[in-house]
Amino acid sequence: MSRLNRFPLLTGRPSLDLVNTEVVRRGKRIELLSSPADLLHWCEAIAAYGSRWASEVHGIVEQHKIVIRPHVMQLREWLRTDFEYAADGGNISDKLVDRLEQSIAQAPLAFKLQAGEPALLPTGQAEFALSSLIAYDALLFISERHPEALKRCSNPDCILLFVDDSGRRKWCSMSICGNRHKAASFQRRQAGEK
Ligand SMILES: [Zn+2]
Repeated sequence: MSRLNRFPLLTGRPSLDLVNTEVVRRGKRIELLSSPADLLHWCEAIAAYGSRWASEVHGIVEQHKIVIRPHVMQLREWLRTDFEYAADGGNISDKLVDRLEQSIAQAPLAFKLQAGEPALLPTGQAEFALSSLIAYDALLFISERHPEALKRCSNPDCILLFVDDSGRRKWCSMSICGNRHKAASFQRRQAGEK
């Protein structure tokens, strides 16, 4: 698996994809951001997936990844608590919104014209640059009322979250859990027929 495609980027939302940087494989919880280099690779992965600010902040992350990582990990913990609660039918807490606003205030976002388009750029201390951008993405996500469509994957061994726009989706992705489920039911049917 290449260093970029080991991250399950299912949502097109960096804040939610960040929560999905912990996965379960063969019954064990795996940390995908266990080092500053992992964080840089994650940033490269979301940039490749289409996040413009991830490409713009790449240089800062590369240079300051060691001091940036703890802030991103803290943010991930806050987001996971509320996103899982929302997936179970709860509401996003005011406390999370406060924390997101504070994270942005630590590296306030400015706009800069790049390649003819306004690009978001965190100002202030580099260590807060990435958490500020992710917190901003989470605020957008919350304001667009998408948390109501948050769902947990139907595979009880999977901890991934996704946005279910159709109201009928069951799996984090067909390729990760859907096909596995299909193969398992097929095997059960075959065994039953014998
Ligand atoms: Zn899954």
